[in-house]
Amino acid sequence: MPAVLWLRRDLRLSDHPALHAALADDGRVVPLFVLDPALLGPAGGPRVAFMLDCLRELNQDLDGALVLRTGNPVDVVPALAREVEASAVHISADFNPYGRARDDKVAAALGDVPLNPTGSPYAVSPGRVRKEDGEPYRVYTPFYRAWLRQGFPSPPAEPEVVTVTGLPSDRLPAKPDVGAAALPAAGERAARQRWQDFRDEHLQRYADERNRPDLEATSRLSPYLRWGCIHPRTPLADLRGRTGKGAETFRKELAWREFYADVLFHNPDSAREPYLPRYAELRVDTGKSADERFNAWTEGRTGYPIVDAGMRQLLVEGWIHNRIRMVVASFLVKDLHLGWKEGARHFMRHLVDGDLASNQHGWQWVAGSGTDAAPFYRVFNPVKQGQKFDPEGNYVRRYVPELRGVDGAAVHTPWELIVPPADYPDPIVDHAEERQEALARYDAVKA
Ligand SMILES: Cc1cc2nc3c(=O)[nH]c(=O)nc-3n(C[C@H](O)[C@H](O)[C@H](O)COP(=O)(O)OP(=O)(O)OC[C@H]3O[C@@H](n4cnc5c(N)ncnc54)[C@H](O)[C@@H]3O)c2cc1C
Repeated sequence: MPAVLWLRRDLRLSDHPALHAALADDGRVVPLFVLDPALLGPAGGPRVAFMLDCLRELNQDLDGALVLRTGNPVDVVPALAREVEASAVHISADFNPYGRARDDKVAAALGDVPLNPTGSPYAVSPGRVRKEDGEPYRVYTPFYRAWLRQGFPSPPAEPEVVTVTGLPSDRLPAKPDVGAAALPAAGERAARQRWQDFRDEHLQRYADERNRPDLEATSRLSPYLRWGCIHPRTPLADLRGRTGKGAETFRKELAWREFYADVLFHNPDSAREPYLPRYAELRVDTGKSADERFNAWTEGRTGYPIVDAGMRQLLVEGWIHNRIRMVVASFLVKDLHLGWKEGARHFMRHLVDGDLASNQHGWQWVAGSGTDAAPFYRVFNPVKQGQKFDPEGNYVRRYVPELRGVDGAAVHTPWELIVPPADYPDPIVDHAEERQEALARYDAVKA
């Protein structure tokens, strides 16, 4: 009897423990992907479009044997298991709140056919790194040390995949319209190429240049990690034995992803509510003027060039540099006094790498309500951030055409030009004033 391999966030064939487990049953596997309307609805066009491209690539690598079914997995997975008389259904474990609840229901609906989890999208699965007293970590640095001590197995070799062919499959739906967004090349080959190029050309300078949005200095692996086109074990194994600052810093960044997944696993409500409950009381603006400010932020029309460049990068690439994610998030919550949840929702609609744990906790870090939170009194100054991390202004000019005629770092303060560009907005708020306002509001809820 063949085994079903139900793929979710693991759209690859190499370094795939659940695939090995599935092949171990009788040597044949039925690879399945379920187009689940409950997940596709809120996912946002760019992420869905990238996912569909990844599925197309995977289907090619499987010589057309990928079975696509549309519907609620609680119905669809047991139906396929019955159809092929499966010995078991194999999965990489999902640790998100929705995924955990869904998998419990699917396991129950499968009855006698076991749902076998092997591995997860993480080097160390959420819930495994714990303090000596068994409690989870709440702070990143000790988590990182304990996470490192777990050690990482080497990636398993790519197996020969024997599939059951000729099964009915839904067609891949048409790609959603992603407007002007230019998405990265999809799939496992592109992911591995991306990693190798980054490792060979940029890793050495990563520690020094990772905060520079004007340079191609980071790996841009995040969409591939999101969909499991590459598993973090692959870069971690490659980094083994490399002692440079670049390798160490990169390992630490991968560990942030694992830390946030662990925090979300232990605190599923933190996807929607502040991790530190007192921040639910923080006063945020609502109403027409707040809506107008929110729209100006989403459209990149705040009059602060580094913020506008970031928000426009999101619209044209479905991705933003990490430093700029922090700057635009800080601007929304501390200069515009709007709620982090609205910002997080906008990010999730547009990011190709949108990931519940990293996104909600990245936002909460900036908003001061999360683990390891930035101290509430740290308010990013959008002008200084621009001058420091985009020193020649090249990042701003790339995404804000109205400012392309402004030379050098002057692009960060267009209001100081003798003739400011007519088609670029004035700042919608005064940063110095709003900083004071933010401090007063945060002061009212501080511990
Ligand atoms: C407000 C906000 C929202 C964010 N939303 C997301 C999101 O939805 N999805 C997402 O993958 N990342 C998110 N991040 C984290 C980070 O910005 C991205 O992972 C990173 O910019 C991806 O680019 P890269 O692959 O070139 O990163 P690199 O610098 O090359 O880092 C390598 C990998 O490490 C991980 N990583 C790096 N920094 C972080 C971090 N701060 N938190 C968690 N993981 C990290 C990512 O998996 C990344 O691909 C968010 C950060 C903030 C401040």
